[in-house]
Amino acid sequence: MHARYEIQRSDTLGRHLAAAKDLKPGETIISDEPYVLGPTSDSSLVCYNCYLPLISKFLVCKNCAVAPVCPGEGCPESLSKKCHNSTECELFRDLKLTKGVGPMTMVQNVGSLLALRAILKKETDPKAWEEFMKLETHLEERKKSNIWEYYENTVKFITSLGVLDNTQDEYIVQKVCGAIDVNSFEVRGPPIPALGYSQPLRGVYLKASLLTHDCVGNTHVSINDNNVLVCHASMDIKKGEVIYYNYTDPLKGTSLRQHHLLVGKYFKCNCDRCKDCTELGTNISSVICTECKTGYVSKSSDQQWTCHDCKKQFDHSNIEHKVQCCSDKFDVINKKNEKELEEYIRNVSKILAPNHYLLLEATQHLAGVLRDTINREPHPTKKLMRRKLQLCQELLPILEKLCPGISRTKAITLYEIHATMVQLAKKLFDSREITGTGYMDKLLNAEKYLKRALEMLFIEPGNSPEGELCAKALEEYRALKVTMNNVLDGIHAEGKTYMTTSKSE
Ligand SMILES: [Zn+2]
Ligand SMILES: [Zn+2]
Ligand SMILES: [Zn+2]
Ligand SMILES: [Zn+2]
Repeated sequence: MHARYEIQRSDTLGRHLAAAKDLKPGETIISDEPYVLGPTSDSSLVCYNCYLPLISKFLVCKNCAVAPVCPGEGCPESLSKKCHNSTECELFRDLKLTKGVGPMTMVQNVGSLLALRAILKKETDPKAWEEFMKLETHLEERKKSNIWEYYENTVKFITSLGVLDNTQDEYIVQKVCGAIDVNSFEVRGPPIPALGYSQPLRGVYLKASLLTHDCVGNTHVSINDNNVLVCHASMDIKKGEVIYYNYTDPLKGTSLRQHHLLVGKYFKCNCDRCKDCTELGTNISSVICTECKTGYVSKSSDQQWTCHDCKKQFDHSNIEHKVQCCSDKFDVINKKNEKELEEYIRNVSKILAPNHYLLLEATQHLAGVLRDTINREPHPTKKLMRRKLQLCQELLPILEKLCPGISRTKAITLYEIHATMVQLAKKLFDSREITGTGYMDKLLNAEKYLKRALEMLFIEPGNSPEGELCAKALEEYRALKVTMNNVLDGIHAEGKTYMTTSKSE
């Protein structure tokens, strides 16, 4: 395989990745094994071997008698990767003999396991360790914040093990914690049997950690069941262009994204979206002008917000307070309740611009509630279906702007639009409100959405929720084809021929 990227260096971006050739949407750019993987720093106790939570009881590893592991039958066979490997096991055995380290020490320090495993790589994989120690850590900023103190326990624990034999132990442990915090990706932990969900882990990927942040990005990242990170181009990337990944939630406004980046990654984003107060014309952070009643007010400087239409200026604190009230209200409503969500949307729509991130979040929750109701009830109403369709269709153009090309949220939205279109069309046909031709038009339209969703879902790992959705969508695609053939047969049986009347959307 020819290299798809090359490592470059610049004053503004530091070490970063650029396309070594023209890349097409969906093309794999990076496939990366984790340098280290483990529980989060605030994790409750997990098995040192397979990362399943140890809820009420645990055993200790038979060989080292130190590492806490799954009780009963042991770790599930399906979790083939044994994370408590022989090197670590031998080390723990030594520590038990020489320093009296026992299982309780490990139980208490599960939050430091990831840092410990990163450090143990120094001996087992010195080349990767060297690369790992080159990662951005923002150590100076961390020194001044309480994160330094937060990791003091980790420093104490690792120093007490004597695995680093030099005078700069504290500094190295803090640097390792910094490298993990700044560069790690969230990884789905093993599925907990009988509960069906999993606890998040963190993984550091040396190649992927060189991806530069941009609030729009041009890549799509997924991590499969073997914990391999795959980065795909989400849109066309020309040779020489910087490869970007968006580390934030694209459906949050600039102030929230910047806060997230500042706290987690220690930098102020200055991308095109962040520099544009309308956020690429979406007005996702804007409020409705109280002066002209129709214009949108966006942040024009640190202290001022300005209406795009009547140019009236507003105080930052005034607008901030207004948005905060809407946000506080959202926090307390029941997000599983259709009526409460509808009422919330109705009320804040008088204050916030139509695509405001709080409204988008409420919209997504409401669409989810309606989807569940439609799928659960034996005879869901057309009204419910139309409302759900409307919500998803409102969301789509925003996603096209903020997540151009391949995007997970967009794929799910496209899938949901198709699903509701098919359900609604069937209902209309069954109640004879539309003819066979009308039914066919609607199914063909739904098929377009489903095809686009499938194009994006194909690159998701099979065992992820999106991968499962992909399998389901494929099934539905086959079923849709069968339905369409039946409808065509029906039209022909009436002695007619089908000519599409639907306009492409
Ligand atoms: Zn286990
Ligand atoms: Zn062991
Ligand atoms: Zn940005
Ligand atoms: Zn105005």
